[in-house]
Amino acid sequence: MVQSKLLPYAFFEGEIVPSDQAKVSIATHALQYGTGVFGGIRGYLDRDGETINLFRLFDHTRRLMQSARFLRAELPYDAERVAELVVELVKRNAPRFDIYIRPFIYKADLELGPRLKGVRDELAIYMIPLQEYLPVTHPIRLMVSSWRRTEDNIIPSRGKVSGAYVNSALARDQAEECGFDDAIMLNAAGKVAEGSGANLFIVRGGALITTPVTADILEGITRRSLLEFARDLSLPVEEREIDRSELYICEEAFLCGTGVQIAPIGSIDGRPVGNGQIGPITSKLQHVFFALVRGEDSPYRRYLTQVKVAQPAESR
Ligand code: PMP
Repeated sequence: MVQSKLLPYAFFEGEIVPSDQAKVSIATHALQYGTGVFGGIRGYLDRDGETINLFRLFDHTRRLMQSARFLRAELPYDAERVAELVVELVKRNAPRFDIYIRPFIYKADLELGPRLKGVRDELAIYMIPLQEYLPVTHPIRLMVSSWRRTEDNIIPSRGKVSGAYVNSALARDQAEECGFDDAIMLNAAGKVAEGSGANLFIVRGGALITTPVTADILEGITRRSLLEFARDLSLPVEEREIDRSELYICEEAFLCGTGVQIAPIGSIDGRPVGNGQIGPITSKLQHVFFALVRGEDSPYRRYLTQVKVAQPAESR
């Protein structure tokens, strides 16, 4: 399990405060009804040891604001300001290790009733240290969950809605109970959607294939990046529906996401994917991704927001 030890400072109710002071009431609307939306951003320690490389920060804060629109959230911040606040908080916490940043927009009133309009919204941001969420250097074992992905007319999967993550938790819990690392969820139409907290790619006939954004998936930022990397590597790429049976005959498969990074899949429902090892296309994409986030020479450096954290916060 990923342990969360909060970094010392968080953003809460309009200011940066010690994390242990960032507390809400048990009656908070978002806690009672799941009426929050969140983001997840990784900050990688650059190989210089003094810089945190935030991967596609602005794309993440923009998606957060998009998710917030589903909840009709009204806040005095836009995506640019949230990105600035994230950078301020990274500077304040000055980590010298890999981190995960969790911005969260939530209905903060204490009143009863699951509604959206007219309920006060707040923004909070905290950070935790994070290494691997799922293994990236050895293949993982997945199962197809019997839990279906929430459908767009139930709770939109393209929003990162807190309450909707009960769906992910049910699937992941089932997978772990059955001895697997994680789950693949099918959507209401019975087509492949995604993992419990990550998008899915397969390789068939040398082509990289992923489900379209209309398949009840989160519009993943890692997914979008890998599609771009693959096209630049001249790999054939397809965004199309994936049938369950294709999972059993593909040559390679991997999950991708901010937490997951790029996690190679060795088997699905006990059936080996390819030869069960990390495939060449997966490994090529991992190489491009990790070179970028660690600050090596990369054509995609524009995707990094680099924050100098050379001095620990106490000495300033
Ligand atoms: N799908 C789900 C359900 C997720 O929770 C995540 C993680 N945010 C992803 C996909 C991957 O999205 P991203 O690459 O933007 O992190």
